[in-house]
Amino acid sequence: MFQVKRNPQVFDVVIIGSGAGGGTAVKILTDLGVSVALLEAGPMLNPAKDFKEHVLPYQVDHRGAGPHAEEYFGRQQWGYFSAPNGYWNIEGEPYTVAKDNEFRWFRSRILGGRTNHYGRISLRFADYDFKPYSTDGLGTDWPVTYDEIAPYYDKAEGFIGVTGTKEGIRSAPDGNFLPPIPPRVHEVLVQKACKKLDIPCIPSRMAMLTKPLHGRAACHYCGQCGRGCQTASAFSSSQAMIFPAMKTGKLTIFTGAMARELVADGSGKVTAVSYVDKETRTEKQIRCRAVVVAASACESARLLLNSKSARFSAGLANSSGQVGRNLTDTVGYGLSGHIPALEGLPRHNSDGIGGMHVYVPWWLLDKKEKDFPRGYHIEIGGGFGMPQIGSFHGACRSHEGYGKSLKQHIRQGYGTSIGLAGRGEMIPNEHTYCDIDPRAVDQWGIPVLRFHWRWTEHEIKQAKHMHQTFVSIIEAMGGTSTGLRNPERESGGISIGGTIIHEAGTVIMGDDPRKSVLNKYCQAHEVKNLFVMDAAPFVSNPDKNVTLSIVAFAWRASEYLAEEMRKGNV
Ligand SMILES: Cc1cc2nc3c(=O)[nH]c(=O)nc-3n(C[C@H](O)[C@H](O)[C@H](O)COP(=O)(O)OP(=O)(O)OC[C@H]3O[C@@H](n4cnc5c(N)ncnc54)[C@H](O)[C@@H]3O)c2cc1C
Ligand code: SF4
Repeated sequence: MFQVKRNPQVFDVVIIGSGAGGGTAVKILTDLGVSVALLEAGPMLNPAKDFKEHVLPYQVDHRGAGPHAEEYFGRQQWGYFSAPNGYWNIEGEPYTVAKDNEFRWFRSRILGGRTNHYGRISLRFADYDFKPYSTDGLGTDWPVTYDEIAPYYDKAEGFIGVTGTKEGIRSAPDGNFLPPIPPRVHEVLVQKACKKLDIPCIPSRMAMLTKPLHGRAACHYCGQCGRGCQTASAFSSSQAMIFPAMKTGKLTIFTGAMARELVADGSGKVTAVSYVDKETRTEKQIRCRAVVVAASACESARLLLNSKSARFSAGLANSSGQVGRNLTDTVGYGLSGHIPALEGLPRHNSDGIGGMHVYVPWWLLDKKEKDFPRGYHIEIGGGFGMPQIGSFHGACRSHEGYGKSLKQHIRQGYGTSIGLAGRGEMIPNEHTYCDIDPRAVDQWGIPVLRFHWRWTEHEIKQAKHMHQTFVSIIEAMGGTSTGLRNPERESGGISIGGTIIHEAGTVIMGDDPRKSVLNKYCQAHEVKNLFVMDAAPFVSNPDKNVTLSIVAFAWRASEYLAEEMRKGNV
């Protein structure tokens, strides 16, 4: 007979997932003396071994085309050098997409989740982002105001370390910043072009340390943050939050533990979490006074939908039917440009931090003439990046001949292009959501998610506006546009849903239990000891990348949870 092994210990809190939200909950709760069990589906992280931060292409077989040269055969999912365990497809853990819909889901399975290799762009939501319905009659207002969350943005920035400058721009609220990084040549040219066009282009806000902070070393400007950062100068929840929490004696970590179901008692409280121990392929159960679900927005919805009981027949805490609904990603569009002014530059090290040093915040907030609601910001790429497999495919295609003349052509073009990427707000719509596919399970028999996706005219018009803006900037630099930046991730002039990797919504917060799942503290209306602390509670998905806000909301919710436990309410 199938046996479930029960852990005899009852933890104060079980946290599921160790990314931005789970890592924050671990830090805050253990700091406050709460005993925590962390369930993480992936393995333990060893930065010294797992991060290929300073490995040069010639040091590895096939120059990083993968141990079996997967890149050559189109089978490499993610850059060989990129931090470990991140995938578009995980073997044995499928998801499905509804007929004629397109969606891609990037997941990471390792302690720290996607924070080990994310871009670290860290932008606060603005005051108006919390009141979208009041602003233009679309979407729903948040139950939280900017003023309520601002102190937690202060704490989050102060702890993780975010570069920036105070600019007084409403769409890009000022924060608690570390010194900024100076712009590089291509960025100076972008700034000049933007000035001509009356577009602001300001120092970027990145979770990378320009000064030592909380025992983490300052950045040494190797420019490889996407490979993970061995000195923890780039923020990751694993290194900055979970490793220090392991020293408190309050944290027990279960890796290779795939949460399958939240077990509720007759009174509607979660009493335990059932998980699959991947190593032994057995089912285990861990008991708790409260549970924090932070498995990433869509995984969190999946877990609730799969936790059915007589009392919660549509999934745990889902009487509103809103679990899985209001799914959003960021609107993405990217264009590259060739800039003759960058030709013939003396070769120099332009590595800096692994990402942009300047960016364009949304600048048309008060302009009425645009034909789409909401806004976008612009991320900027360029410089003499480390050449990798495939870097010069375009140059080879555009050149007749080979040998010396081809090398000259490549050298001439190296470092002369820039990339502009728009990141805009998607408005939740009824056709975009995830639910459980009744016909598919993963390798452990857990029912999987099915995605439904539709961009509306709002997003499509916004992407067109991005294109026009990018052409204007490239032309103002004296350059010409050379085509889509990531053609494989775009379809019909807009990113494929999910490919910007900013999924949010699916378990939204609100004041009305009939229309939302959680209250303003990320606590389930119906299940008082259930909290969701990733981007699932987000009512809207403003143009600002979500992770700083995940940290701020998880910080606030964790403090609230600890206090409610102290008062005996949870
Ligand atoms: C290449 C890249 C660049 C990005 N750039 C940026 C950026 O510049 N700025 C920004 O704000 N955001 C960026 N993001 C997005 C950012 O990484 C995510 O928003 C953030 O990591 C989400 O945090 P999370 O708490 O939802 O958990 P995740 O980081 O997604 O981690 C979730 C964890 O939960 C675990 N898990 C899942 N299901 C279960 C289960 N059932 N049981 C147990 N454990 C489970 C997973 O293994 C994983 O470790 C980027 C992402 C990528 C991949
Ligand atoms: S650029 Fe700085 S933050 Fe990024 S990996 Fe190198 S040392 Fe770390």
